[in-house]
Amino acid sequence: GKVLVTGANGYVAVWVVKSYLEKGFSVRGTVRSESKGKYLRQLFQSYGDKFELVVVDDITREGAFDEAVKGVDAIAHTASPFHNRADDPNDVIVPAVHGTLSVLNSALKHGSSVKRVVITASCASILEYGPEPRVFSEKDWNERAIREVNEKGRAAANGDKYCASKTLAERAAWDFYNKHKSEVQWDVSVLNPPYVFGPVLHEVDKPENLNESSRLWWDAVVAGKLSNEELATNGSAWVDVRDLAAAHVLATTTPEAGGERVIISPGAFKYQDFVNIAHRLYPKLPAGNTSYDPAKAVHMIQYDTSKERKLFGIKYHTAEEMTRDTLEDFIKRGWIS
Ligand code: NDP
Repeated sequence: GKVLVTGANGYVAVWVVKSYLEKGFSVRGTVRSESKGKYLRQLFQSYGDKFELVVVDDITREGAFDEAVKGVDAIAHTASPFHNRADDPNDVIVPAVHGTLSVLNSALKHGSSVKRVVITASCASILEYGPEPRVFSEKDWNERAIREVNEKGRAAANGDKYCASKTLAERAAWDFYNKHKSEVQWDVSVLNPPYVFGPVLHEVDKPENLNESSRLWWDAVVAGKLSNEELATNGSAWVDVRDLAAAHVLATTTPEAGGERVIISPGAFKYQDFVNIAHRLYPKLPAGNTSYDPAKAVHMIQYDTSKERKLFGIKYHTAEEMTRDTLEDFIKRGWIS
């Protein structure tokens, strides 16, 4: 089979492309410009014509993917802004929502061979920060972020702007699918990962230019930018990027994943959990908060992942494996000497 992967040059997407190729799929990736594809062509050179790239310069334009969807059996839509630089909430909401709708519209009109559309959503569209620790499931929706952005606009917290973009995009996807499901031969499967960490495969010249989640991890674990207090209290749930990539393949090949949103995570973390492992492996890295007691950590956001276990049964990388492999990657890049 052949899969269309949108935003193929992103942190998550490059691992997604690699997973599909390793499982024997052909991949057609989209990038915003030819120059963003050069490194990828090299990276996946050994796959010959099983890997191809097309340029889609504006994903929000209606019909943007009309050519790209032709002849593919599945679509993995990953392209969406993940950064905290948005001033106007629409800077992130418009590409998230209209990018998703334009992929689905092209699949509706020209995706006659498509059977499954996998959407890289986020736990951002599930969680709501509140005063008490809470366990969330696929039944929950982040209404709070949308409310915040509606009420405060540019003054809303940047995290809320991103969360609203992911919530509105996922909701738009389900609304579109429910409206058109009698007209199409494909269905939709949504993956909801929390913070994604792990080795980097995409093109990055220096740590400051890492994708958002990897940069947060670098700042906490390598650069020592968090206070002891923050190291012991900042955290959420996480997943290894390689496991999230594997989940994309499973979401493509598992019939029962159709019509489902699925949380993909092995559990919760505080940044000090990773700092402890990193410092043990490389004593020259910061020790961080030496009085941190993981048994006393309060995890405000936790997830019920029983649906994932039932549908996919992913054997997750441990925090130890993720930390070890990420640091080895950073060392290989010459970022840690
Ligand atoms: P990256 O920033 O590494 O990748 C984002 C991708 O989306 C890039 O290909 C980027 O293209 C593309 N993109 C961003 N904005 C636009 C836009 N306005 N128009 C067209 N393309 C755009 O981030 P990740 O790999 O981390 O994110 C990939 C997906 O995973 C996103 O949907 C994100 O929401 C989701 N996700 C990520 C998490 C994480 O912790 N990393 C957690 C949960 C979900 P370009 O390089 O040209 O900008």
